[in-house]
Amino acid sequence: MSAGPHSEAIFARMQKALPGGVNSPVRAFRAVGGTPIVMRRGQGAEVEDEDGRRYVDFVGSWGPLILGHAHPAVVEAVAKTAADGMSFGAPCKLEVELAEKVISMYPGLEQVRFVSSGTEAVMSAIRLARGATGRDLILKFSGCYHGHADHLLVAAGSGLVTFGQPSSAGVPKDFAGLTRVLPLADADKVQELFDREGDRIAAVILEPIPANNGLLLQTKEFLQFLRAITQKHGTLLIFDEVISGFRVGPGGAAAHYGITPDLATFGKVIGGGMPVGAFGGSATLMGHLAPLGPVYQAGTLSGNPVAMAAGLATLRVMATENGWAQLERKGALAEAELTAALGRAAFASSVVRVGSIFWMSLQEGAAPRAAECIANEAAPRYTTIFHALLDRGISIAPSAYEVGFLSLAHTDEHVKRLGKALGDAVAGLG
Ligand SMILES: *Cc1c(COP(=O)(O)O)cnc(C)c1O
Repeated sequence: MSAGPHSEAIFARMQKALPGGVNSPVRAFRAVGGTPIVMRRGQGAEVEDEDGRRYVDFVGSWGPLILGHAHPAVVEAVAKTAADGMSFGAPCKLEVELAEKVISMYPGLEQVRFVSSGTEAVMSAIRLARGATGRDLILKFSGCYHGHADHLLVAAGSGLVTFGQPSSAGVPKDFAGLTRVLPLADADKVQELFDREGDRIAAVILEPIPANNGLLLQTKEFLQFLRAITQKHGTLLIFDEVISGFRVGPGGAAAHYGITPDLATFGKVIGGGMPVGAFGGSATLMGHLAPLGPVYQAGTLSGNPVAMAAGLATLRVMATENGWAQLERKGALAEAELTAALGRAAFASSVVRVGSIFWMSLQEGAAPRAAECIANEAAPRYTTIFHALLDRGISIAPSAYEVGFLSLAHTDEHVKRLGKALGDAVAGLG
């Protein structure tokens, strides 16, 4: 199905006024072809486009909407707070309320600082790590996406994988030269790197649950190995929990695996759909930040009351409704439905899932743990599935490398509709 006439017309205007018609590249449908659907409303697990067509939504704004669209508690919190002032540029009580909540939920946190996006959180955590250790090098893993700060657009995943670019133009070679990039799930390579230059590495950063290039689940042993080797070399371990934080459980991947990083970065769920990011760690480490220490970091809208209120409302609903247990149950149903549906396809595949995050590995053999292990045939298969699902009123991410998200608003019925549509879609696929 192509986009409806209203979507087509609006997107034509958008292409004139906005580069590629979008404000974030993967929305442009380049990976799957066709005109992007222009959305006008979201309610619970469903979205409606400008032509009045409705879809069950498994994109969830790429992760933040863990309660679904326009949850009444979040909408009310936002409206009430906004009516009392949108921003002060002075301390406000909602900042400490969300901070205390986050600190109480996530292992090892004593202090957090709020920013306005995941990118900003990661960028600031890296600067802090460098400032605190007095070292310049960082290690990241291919297939992990950490936002679009210069030092991390080095063999980054997410939209860039789809575009077949290892990194971005405009990133100075000298910056990229301070970043080491290794494949995930390969302890030997990490060991070799640390043997060579471990005492120059400020931080190792990874998504402990890599979910931006497929869902590349790591073994607990690999994560424990990273914890141990960083500790040994005085290197900081940064968990980028922008997706996994407050989604796989109240304590993110750190609690899931029982491993406490030195610094953690958050985004997406923590803002409940508003632009929020955060990073945190021990009070000693965070004490390197201005105004206490020499590492500069600031933001006009950081800790914005409306955004704090949305995040707080989201985390409160999750806690009072036992949200993570509910999502685990829905996730298990989705896994069973998707596995059964993919069983109707002529090609081998598997479903990878952790809690409410799922991904279809459309290739033979065990699900990949490293970006390098994703087969070429997966993407064209996904493209066919993507359009077939859209035809059937189901919205999944417009890229084979993106995961799907469930929310508290998804009913068993929504999940079964996904299974049915997927089964029908793949039944005729070679
Ligand atoms: C989305 C994401 C980011 C970037 O967050 P933005 O809010 O898009 O800047 C960073 N790290 C991870 C793991 C992400 O998934």
